[in-house]
Amino acid sequence: MTLQSFQLDLATVLLLHQCSFLVGALCFLYARWQSRRGEGLGTLAIGFISLAMSSTLAGLGERSVLSHEIWTFGTFTFGLMGYALFWVGMRTLSSGRQRRVDWLVMVVPAVLVCVAGVTGFYLDDKLRSAVSNSMSFLLLAAAAVSVMRDRRPEQLPVRLVLSAVIALSSLLALLIVIAMLTPSIAPMTPRWAFFVRIICHFAIALFVIILVKERAEAELRHAADTDILTGVGNRRWFTSRMPHVMRADDALLLMDLDLFKQVNDRFGHDTGDQVLVSFAQTIGRNLRAGGSFARLGGEEFAAYLPKTNPAEAMAAAERLVELVRKLELDSNGERVPLTVSIGVATSQDMDHSWSDLLKMADAALYVAKDSGRNRAVLYGSSDKAAA
Ligand code: GH3
Ligand code: MG
Ligand code: MG
Repeated sequence: MTLQSFQLDLATVLLLHQCSFLVGALCFLYARWQSRRGEGLGTLAIGFISLAMSSTLAGLGERSVLSHEIWTFGTFTFGLMGYALFWVGMRTLSSGRQRRVDWLVMVVPAVLVCVAGVTGFYLDDKLRSAVSNSMSFLLLAAAAVSVMRDRRPEQLPVRLVLSAVIALSSLLALLIVIAMLTPSIAPMTPRWAFFVRIICHFAIALFVIILVKERAEAELRHAADTDILTGVGNRRWFTSRMPHVMRADDALLLMDLDLFKQVNDRFGHDTGDQVLVSFAQTIGRNLRAGGSFARLGGEEFAAYLPKTNPAEAMAAAERLVELVRKLELDSNGERVPLTVSIGVATSQDMDHSWSDLLKMADAALYVAKDSGRNRAVLYGSSDKAAA
């Protein structure tokens, strides 16, 4: 039995069509109520309610409850407005920000409705359907492109499927236009195209909810892994980046700002905070690609440099010490002196764990502090560190 052999009753299709928009609108409103950031969801809900109105009027017209003039004008107006609102809502949701200029798209339905009012072309079923489905095709295609384009600034797995169902719905609108104007070449009847679009509407509602959820999860993950003051990774993130067993030539640099308590005491805690931010940004910018850098807590930071032998690790650490010493920091016109001590440990012949390497770097850092600060010390290069 082929799919086409099923009989689709028009009244049922229209009822389902209407329900799919109402369910979608409810989903958008629920997601908006639940999420902290609800950009675009309210507009999407209004768009779907407008489309449900358009579908309801078509259903009432089909049952001859309303005069032909009223239902055709109503369904045309609400349909065009609904798709324009859908485009604005989807662009806002996808990019995460409102763009006032997007609202200019509402001029298109306004102009078309005025032209329809003046010429009365909406009374011709074929022409009305061709115009509104062409608009729907264009606006949905543009929404699908926006969802995919925004994956560059914000990668979310659901974007691909959400964009695909919107694109499918857009393609079906085009098929409806073809089927209306040249039925002989259309691969499916408008009724079947409507039926598949109903499934697309449910899928769009589902994938929008998943997008909101994936976005919230990504934000939580980012917040859990980021140091709130400096914006670099925190200890949790750093630990999660460490291999279980260190490979040969993995280096760990443990950094502690020198006499930082004095910086706070002399220049105030706010300046101390600014110094921490400047320090973190400087090191982050100057670290070799492939390295990881994090604030472990207080004024203590760490860098992990894979595939770095002891000589290279020391050269990198000494370069950082020099960079920090030359940092131009000022508080009310007064220079804030800043230096850092760095303990360097590398994983050589033994299979060290990350905590072994951390202990070794800590011992080297102790030696650096003990021997005058403002320097880098390699673990094992002095008797004290080895102890
Ligand atoms: P040393 O050279 O031996 O490391 O001396 P120190 O003064 O840096 O060491 P100590 O551990 O005694 O002091 C660390 C100071 O770092 C104390 C604390 O107030 C300051 N500190 C820790 N976290 C923050 C922060 O988030 N902001 C500011 N402004 N200060 C912080
Ligand atoms: Mg400290
Ligand atoms: Mg310190």
